[in-house]
Amino acid sequence: MLKNLKSLLDEAKENSYAIGSYSCYNYETIRGAIEAIKKLKVPGIIALGENYLNNINPEEFVDIVKSLEKIGEDVPIAIHLDHCKSIDHIVQAIQAGFTSVMYDGSDLDFVENIMKTKKVVDIAHAANVSVEAELGSLALGEFSNEEGAEQIYTDPEQAKQFIEETGVDALAVSIGTVHGMYKGVPKVNVNVLKKINEKVGDTPLVLHGGSGTPEDVIKECIKNGITKINVNTEISVNVVNQIRDKLAKEEKYHFSKVSLLAKEAVKEVVLKYSQLFYSVRS
Ligand SMILES: [Zn+2]
Repeated sequence: MLKNLKSLLDEAKENSYAIGSYSCYNYETIRGAIEAIKKLKVPGIIALGENYLNNINPEEFVDIVKSLEKIGEDVPIAIHLDHCKSIDHIVQAIQAGFTSVMYDGSDLDFVENIMKTKKVVDIAHAANVSVEAELGSLALGEFSNEEGAEQIYTDPEQAKQFIEETGVDALAVSIGTVHGMYKGVPKVNVNVLKKINEKVGDTPLVLHGGSGTPEDVIKECIKNGITKINVNTEISVNVVNQIRDKLAKEEKYHFSKVSLLAKEAVKEVVLKYSQLFYSVRS
């Protein structure tokens, strides 16, 4: 069943678990992710980044999610627009039926980020669509498709003020995870997260850069207010590696089989993370 993101995240925060937000941009990624969460009977977020609007448009995306969502086990699913800087794209996604949007004003100064985010909140809430925003910025790891940025931790005091002034439903924080795979040993600062969580009360927090983050760190983050974790790069890396290995061995491999292989490779990663995120449920 399609759900509003806020209702999913509020329940996750209350019961101390997190929901995976999986980056999807074609039939294989959407089907792999939905099959995985249905298999585990857990809630899930099917996300389309603004970066991938050349792969699929919001209307097509919603149609595919809705048609696959109806098959088999009924689990709560949110359709989320990830990392969007254009208000036009946000409006388009809302009209197409997305149940949440992320406005990314993280590269703006604090006051401008508040102003623009507030505008998005007004538009989205009028349509009962939830809003995620971001404060601070993540560094860029390997194999990522995101923009490069300098790592700036989220300031706990600013996080509190930002939430109060914008009315956002969820806040993405920067605590040392990266967009992409880590180049060295991950250095995630859970102390910064603890301070943010103390300041923001019930507001659900979001961790971008889930790919490759060690299990114990993820669990520690969930204990300290993270309720939504984005996974993108590891899905892509797993799919590409498996296709590469297969094609190296079998020269006459049919494209229909490549498609199924890709779907299964997506499913593997989503199963792994969804299981982990939900295992800590209290
Ligand atoms: Zn992100």
